[in-house]
Amino acid sequence: MRAKVPPSSADTIAAIATAQGRGGIGVIRVSGQNLDTLARGILGKLPAARYASYCKFMDEQGDTLDQGVALFFPAPHSYTGENVLELQGHGGTAVLQLVLQRCLDLGARLAQPGEFTRRAFLNDKLDLAQAESVADLIEANSAEAARSAMRSLRGEFSAAIRIMVDELIYLRMLVEAMLDFPEEQLDGADTERRDVLLHSVRARLQHTLDTAKQGSLLREGAHVAIAGQPNVGKSSLLNRLAGEEVALVSDIPGTTRDVIRQAIQINGVPLHIQDTAGLRESDDAVERMGIARAHQTMHRADLILLLLDASQGLTTQDEAILAGLPADIPRLLVYNKTDLPGAGVAASASGGLPSVRVSARTGAGIDELRGRLLEAVGWHAQESGAFMARERHVRALVQAQTHLAQAQAQLGSAELFAEELRLAQHALEEITGEFTPDDLLGEIFSRFCIGK
Ligand code: GDP
Repeated sequence: MRAKVPPSSADTIAAIATAQGRGGIGVIRVSGQNLDTLARGILGKLPAARYASYCKFMDEQGDTLDQGVALFFPAPHSYTGENVLELQGHGGTAVLQLVLQRCLDLGARLAQPGEFTRRAFLNDKLDLAQAESVADLIEANSAEAARSAMRSLRGEFSAAIRIMVDELIYLRMLVEAMLDFPEEQLDGADTERRDVLLHSVRARLQHTLDTAKQGSLLREGAHVAIAGQPNVGKSSLLNRLAGEEVALVSDIPGTTRDVIRQAIQINGVPLHIQDTAGLRESDDAVERMGIARAHQTMHRADLILLLLDASQGLTTQDEAILAGLPADIPRLLVYNKTDLPGAGVAASASGGLPSVRVSARTGAGIDELRGRLLEAVGWHAQESGAFMARERHVRALVQAQTHLAQAQAQLGSAELFAEELRLAQHALEEITGEFTPDDLLGEIFSRFCIGK
């Protein structure tokens, strides 16, 4: 692990930045330390800085490959912090390839996935959390996710981290002075300041963690397994939630033998719903494999929906299933088939567990179920909106939180206290990329698209 080092290589990178396929406009982006020769080769001149110049894009013989708008952003006022040239031509696959090839012939090399953004990060144009939000914004497939990614890109998440890092640095100064001058003791005012600051940074961390968890939920979603006896309507419920026929519905028990997955969105939160084989004793080898797989699925879920037949109530078989569910995973009881006669409320005993009543057939209660699902996976609508966060951010925040709790427990020993503060600061700085292992950087940027 080391502090980040700006790229020393002077090589020029180029890529098609627009999506593959036909489009009105196609953009080729070039970034490097010196673009003079390349620009003169293809455009006949270096365009004026930050002006849209209508140009011919020319081949070696001076013949026109395409024509369009060229934009030149001199360093450091560009996306990457280097000199950047953008060529906006026609969005056809062949013509874009011709122009790109011309840039490569003039000395550029093809950019790797995420390499433009990686350079932006290394040149301090963005921190790591912001760079990640660029990819998240491009990948966002709900309005809520896009807004959250934009908040992170604008630096709201990073700013929250920076405030905490500054507070920790101040706290460390306060106690480390004592380590350097052991004969001096903290006076009453100093200890009070230390306690107030520690309290403040811990509260801020808790709030940031709550918001980041929401952001992570928006990005990664939650896994929900539907479990229950054969024929209680698991497949029908999945279809109802997904709004289409994805699982095979039949009244022959044991129809769903494998795990069927379907991603749905509720208020922009992705839920990966898994319909599992009906849980029962079976002599059929294939069905038994399905049931074993259902158990594995449930162990990995964030929430289990235990589906019951409202016309039957909580039967002894259901109780046996309940008893066999993984103990540490939250569950929600769903009474289905409330449209059937005999499905009265009285039949819906839930043994103190949260429950909801629906009919997969008529759709009754499904909206309430959607709300309860969101609540159960930990989503709550934010007043100020979530910022996009990743699992790695949540882990780092939890780590910082643990170190601060340990610091609180070490108030008596300035040395241990200071060390815990240092570790907490380190965990926070991993989020913004102050100290980040190279392989992590490689992994983050390799998931970007080429040209970004
Ligand atoms: P699974 O084995 O648990 O996946 O159950 P299915 O979804 O295949 O449904 C079993 C049977 O119950 C089918 O005949 C469905 O049409 C029926 N069914 C499912 N949901 C409801 C419901 O809400 N009301 C009624 N009346 N029947 C339902």
